[in-house]
Amino acid sequence: MKTDFLIVGSGLSGLVFGALMANAGKTVRVLEAHEHPGGFGHTFTMAKKYTFNAQLHYVWDCGEGYTVNRVLKKLNLDKEVTFERYDPNGFDRMRMPGYALDIPSDPQELIRRLSDLFPEAAEQIRKFVLEVEKTSEGLKKLSPPIDAGELFNHFGEVFGTVLYLNSTLQDVFDKFKLPQAAQTLLALQWPDFLLPPNQLSFYAWVILFTGYQKGAFYPTQHFEHVIQSLVKIIETNGGEVLLNLEVTQFVFADKTVAGVQAMDLVTHQTHEFTGDTVICNIDPKKAAKMIGIENFSKTVRKKLSYDYSPSNFMAYCAVKDIDLRDYGFGKWNTFYSGHQDLNEAFAQMYERNDFSNPSFAITTPTLLTNERRDCPEDCQIIEFLTVANYDYFKHLKDTDRKAYRRKKEEILDFILDVVERQYIPTLREHLVFKISGSPTTNERFCWCPSGNSYGSSLTPQNMGLGRLNHQSSLKNFYFCNASSGYPGFAPTFWTGAILYQRLSGDRILGS
Ligand SMILES: Cc1cc2nc3c(=O)[nH]c(=O)nc-3n(C[C@H](O)[C@H](O)[C@H](O)COP(=O)(O)OP(=O)(O)OC[C@H]3O[C@@H](n4cnc5c(N)ncnc54)[C@H](O)[C@@H]3O)c2cc1C
Repeated sequence: MKTDFLIVGSGLSGLVFGALMANAGKTVRVLEAHEHPGGFGHTFTMAKKYTFNAQLHYVWDCGEGYTVNRVLKKLNLDKEVTFERYDPNGFDRMRMPGYALDIPSDPQELIRRLSDLFPEAAEQIRKFVLEVEKTSEGLKKLSPPIDAGELFNHFGEVFGTVLYLNSTLQDVFDKFKLPQAAQTLLALQWPDFLLPPNQLSFYAWVILFTGYQKGAFYPTQHFEHVIQSLVKIIETNGGEVLLNLEVTQFVFADKTVAGVQAMDLVTHQTHEFTGDTVICNIDPKKAAKMIGIENFSKTVRKKLSYDYSPSNFMAYCAVKDIDLRDYGFGKWNTFYSGHQDLNEAFAQMYERNDFSNPSFAITTPTLLTNERRDCPEDCQIIEFLTVANYDYFKHLKDTDRKAYRRKKEEILDFILDVVERQYIPTLREHLVFKISGSPTTNERFCWCPSGNSYGSSLTPQNMGLGRLNHQSSLKNFYFCNASSGYPGFAPTFWTGAILYQRLSGDRILGS
């Protein structure tokens, strides 16, 4: 097959780019190492009846006119791929000893709720929330495709936003002198970044926080349907998504990438694939090493020197004969911390591997849509997510498999202890299935170096002006993944769509 676009990896940005190009009449071939498409967004089934999405929980920018909706419209999928909205009165429910805050969509309501909890800090809280709104508007103006007129008309917002280029969330909390407990309640969605406030880019936090305020969503027919719909667009337009094919080498000469060699993981045979343009959806740094880092320009080499995001622990569980709605769960996520200081909670888990007082996220996908495809009628799915250290787990796995398994069980046990104490006293009696993933699980099933969760770490350093984009400095070769765009469902839709826009000239995003 003559291929216009050979895409290495079937992660969301690669699939979105591929679907848009296929829809525009180009021939697209996607090579994927895993047996399922979707990368971090792939779906798997256990014990023949429990279906879990690997890493996606909730998403933003899916409402009318937002990025995901614009892409789906272009693909004629907007009636087919629909979303259910989380509770706007409390989409993220933050809990810690002595405090509870449901994050509402309305910023004024957020100010009111926080001010009720911390009356002495009402003025600082108001100023902080308004600054977040302003920064969010400024970031929109600064995001490509940039409109110079808009920058000029909104100079104040843009200038104020640029001043936070190197700020962490903690820097801004400190600037506004927010009480410690208020900081923790606002930043309790830290598992969405796997960084604590003192390392997390303020920009990254603002984008996600305000994105979810405008609408937090879950796909009506689960994430698997979104992935399958994109694959179908590629296939019905004459393209193909080939699974179990691990790319082992790039075909490179005269500063040009012409194709790849890939190993069929079932037959162990090696095949060569070529394409007029090669799109790299796998980790850019890993691809650059395969090609030879010295072949890239100095500027791109510098951009490729990012550090990886921390990795994570996930527990995928099913409960039977219990309705989680009776225990405070519903169309929202729950975030918990035993510690009042998230920087300390993070250090305890990530640096000292001590999960005895954990901070974690709880999600309940079965409660988010009426489409019951994820488990039998009498069951519900519940998942737990927190940070985990790759080096520690890699060492355990390589040296002592039993200790590796014990550590995973220990983390889940600490989490279940908290959940039984705080929410569902009989949880363990109803648990009919559990399986947990560690950083090495991520590496094995998502092919991500060091088990990284979000590509490059979401620090101010990586989120700044030196961030990698699609340009590779090689001919016919473009990056298209979380580290060369932005991580997350909506941001990877954006990453795939913006590259499509640049290479095709067809404008679907932007004003
Ligand atoms: C724990 C966790 C929770 C998350 N929760 C959310 C959430 O709630 N909401 C949200 O919006 N986002 C969430 N994300 C982020 C989101 O899942 C990712 O940012 C996004 O899916 C990344 O897409 P990508 O295009 O970068 O490709 P990736 O998902 O990184 O896909 C790359 C693909 O390339 C393949 N590949 C790699 N090497 C090779 C090779 N040599 N040959 C062939 N194929 C190869 C991989 O198998 C993979 O399929 C979460 C991520 C994690 C880890």
